[in-house]
Formats: sequence, structure tokens, C-alpha cells
Amino acid sequence: MSKKENGQQNKSSGKRRGGAKSWLRKKRRPTSTFFLLWACFSVLCSLLLLMFGFTQRFTIESALKDEAASEVSARGPRIERQILEGPPPTFNGNYSLYVRVLASQNNVDVLILDESGKLLYPAQDEYGSANPDLDGYFNFQDEVERMIKELGGEQSAVYEHKNSYVYGAKIAVENGTPVYLYVGQSFRLMKAASTAMTTRTILLCIFSVALSFAVTSAIAAWLTRPLMEMTKKANRFAAGDFSVDFGGEDYSLEVSNLATTLNYARDEISKADRMQKELIANVSHDFKTPLTMIKAYASMIVEISGHNPEKREKHAKIIIDEADRLTSLVNDVLDLSKLQSGIGEIKSEKLNISAMLSEVMGRFSYYKDTKGYKFVSQIDDELYTMGDKTKIEQALYNLIGNAVNYTGEDKTVYIRLQLDGTRFCFSVRDTGKGIKPEEIKGIWERYYRSSEAHKRPVQGTGLGLSIVKGILERHGLEYGVESKVGEGSLFYIWFPLV
Ligand code: ADP
Repeated sequence: MSKKENGQQNKSSGKRRGGAKSWLRKKRRPTSTFFLLWACFSVLCSLLLLMFGFTQRFTIESALKDEAASEVSARGPRIERQILEGPPPTFNGNYSLYVRVLASQNNVDVLILDESGKLLYPAQDEYGSANPDLDGYFNFQDEVERMIKELGGEQSAVYEHKNSYVYGAKIAVENGTPVYLYVGQSFRLMKAASTAMTTRTILLCIFSVALSFAVTSAIAAWLTRPLMEMTKKANRFAAGDFSVDFGGEDYSLEVSNLATTLNYARDEISKADRMQKELIANVSHDFKTPLTMIKAYASMIVEISGHNPEKREKHAKIIIDEADRLTSLVNDVLDLSKLQSGIGEIKSEKLNISAMLSEVMGRFSYYKDTKGYKFVSQIDDELYTMGDKTKIEQALYNLIGNAVNYTGEDKTVYIRLQLDGTRFCFSVRDTGKGIKPEEIKGIWERYYRSSEAHKRPVQGTGLGLSIVKGILERHGLEYGVESKVGEGSLFYIWFPLV
């Protein structure tokens, strides 16, 4: 079973196995690159901004709280000590004033309360207008109850209560009731500032997300535009318009590289297309000529020379020669298609190239004996290599045939087979017009045929060198051509010595 058939079978069995799932997969329409780019960019930008916003909010708030807590922890015990020591003489025993001064010096709220929540210092009447911040929301009784709970029998404690960090301590017992010190650092204002900042950050995020949507849409459009243009051009190209220019130079490096590659592919395909058309024209012509001859000479045998054995034999010989020509033409076409489809297997065996070359040259003795061709050869004996006998023979035959076809007026062909270390070289040189440098690369291509007309003693189809190339590449052999216009060409093959 051929590879193709195999592939098809795999495909169809895969279909059966995949069932509904593969059907769904098949039906899913590919998502547009524009949309993908836009969505990815937008989601990424939004996430980054939101992350930034949230981090900012929580970092600031916790930093502010930490600051308040550490202030209270550091200042609370100090204030407690100062209060227990009592006011300096300059205060004339004015505790209220002393407490207020301590509070403002340390930038905290300082209160001395009894167990029932009664404010002892600063005196309530002085206090009301002195610290408006505490008015309205400060419930002394609640504060004392919380402090007693937090102290839990201890002398002092630091805790968070109602937007403040508090240092609470039991500092004395007066008339049988305990007296408590309240040192509080409010973070109410800080919290308000942090909330305001968060609101602004969120607004900024929303604005940034909107902006990123717009920017990513523009970028996605800019990136996908050349692809869409190229798709349109590729469609024109697929419809057979070889004049399309994929452009792309005005865009990014990658797009421009893609455009260059597509332009190159276009040139190659249009060249191949042109050559294929030429080949069809050439091959049809080459097929037609022997067929016309065969028909003409067969008619002549029937109508004229049928009774004349001498003429009949001559005409029959021409028919046989022309049929041979047709056969070799058909063989060439088949060989090439086999080589290119990889069907023609290489059967490797040990080959005596020296003997093979002499045998191949023998096939050209007709040209030596009847057409005045000279073959100057220098062949080292017993040079062996591994390869496919028929194919290597064909490569040698094609190269020598070309030299005969294209050699100059002196009708001389030089053939060499020489040992060089662990390998040996076959070369065939002619004295013809040579090959122009710009044509050298093309001659190995399928369908290539030089524009110049040559007299062709050996039949040629324009496929000879591509057959040689196919054979030598499948053998992994090094080969090439050196040519000078006006002086001739030299084709060579290097064989590893076995
Ligand atoms: P063709 O049947 O036309 O010779 P080939 O594939 O053998 O086909 O050669 C391809 C082309 O390469 C030829 O048409 C010819 O232009 C060029 N070429 C091949 N061999 C020679 C040579 N020895 N000297 C000059 N040109 C050559």
C-alpha cells in the first residue's frame, strides 16, 4: 500500500475513534488574532492595574496602623511614668494642664479615668472645648470597660479599639476604686486619607483600564493589518496571479521577513510554473517528432517500399530508432517522477566504477565511429564504491551525453576517473559554449532548459540533469559543475572509495 493510501486510512480511522469530540474540535472556528491580542493585552493591563491598586490600598493602611501601634507602645509607658512622677513645680499642681501638655507633646490622647468611666483628668469642663476631636464619638465608659477587659488583671496592655491604638494601664487606686490611664493614637484621619487615596486609585485604575483597552485595540489592529493584507494577496496568488507583491517592508522585522519569504516562494512557484509549461511544450514536441516520423515511414513502407527489401529495411530501421527515442523519452519522464516521489528505491551494492565507466563510454562509440566525436579518457583501474548500479550508470550516461550534446566544433569530450586519497573523482569536460553564471544554479532544476538552441546528437529532454541531481543526492554524493562561457563546462562527482 502506498504512503498516501496509508495516510488516508489513518485519517479515516482517527475520525472514527475521535467521535463527537473530534467533530466539535473540527467545527470550532479559529479565534481572530486581533481579538486574541486585544483580549490578552487588556486582561493583562487590567490585572496589573488592579493588583497595583489593591496593593497600594492595603499597604498604606497597614503601614499607617503599624505606625500608630508603635507610637502608642513607645509613648504609653513614658507618659505613665511622667504622670506617676507628678507635674513639675511650674504647673502648680495643675494635673489637668499637665495631662493636656503631655498629650499635645506626644501627639496622642491622654485621659485619666475611674472605673465607672468618669473622666478625672483633664477636668471634663476644660476638656470639652480643648479636644474637639474626641467630642461626640468618645464614650468614656465604653473605653474603660474595654480597657479592663484587655488588661485582664495585668498592669498595662496595648490594643486596638474603635479606630485607635490604645495603651491602657491601671495607675493607682483612689478611695478604693482603681484609676486608669488611657493613651490613644487615633488612626481615624489616616484611615480617611487612605480611603480617599484608594478611591482615587480605583478611579485611576478604571481610567487606565479604559485607556489600555483603547491602546491594545490600536496595537492589535496595527499588528494584524499586514497579516490580513497578506492573506488577501495570498488568495490572489492562489488564484494564479503571480504578479502579487507581498510587500511588508513598512511593518515589523518578522512581517517583513515573512513577506520576503512569500515573495521568494512566489518567484520560485512562478518559475516552476513557467518551466513546467515549457517542459510540456518541449516534451510534447519531442514526442510528436518521432511519432510523425514513425507514421511517415510506416506509410512509406505500406505505399512505396513494401516490395523493395532494401528500402523497406532502411525505413523500418528509422521506425525502430524513433521508437527507441520515444522509449528513452518516456523512461526519462518516469525516472524523474519516481525519483521525486521517492518511489525508486536505491539498491546499494559494491560497484566497479572504472569498469562501469568504460561500459557507458562504449555506448557512445556510435558517435565516435560515425560522427567524428573524440573521447579523451584517463581512467584509473579498479575504483570501487557503494551505490545503485542502474542509477549511477544513468548519472554517468546523462553527464557524458550532455558533454556530447554541448561540446564545441572540435567534437571532443574529456573523461577522467582519478583516485585522490580515500575518494575518487569522475569528471567529464567539453569544449562548448559553457554555461552563463546566472544559469548554473538553474540547470539542475526540474523543467530547466537553456534558452539557447543546440544541435543535439544525443536525445535530450531537459530532464537529464535533474535526474542526475536526484540520483546523486539520494546517494549522498558530492557533485557539481565548473563552467566558463566560451571555453566549456566540467561536471564532476566525488565517490568514496570502498
Ligand atoms: P537537456 O536535455 O536539455 O540537455 P539537461 O537537464 O541534461 O537537459 O540539461 C539542462 C540544461 O543544462 C541544458 O538545456 C543546457 O542548457 C545545460 N547544460 C547541461 N549540460 C551542459 C553542458 N555540458 N554544456 C553546456 N550546457 C549544458
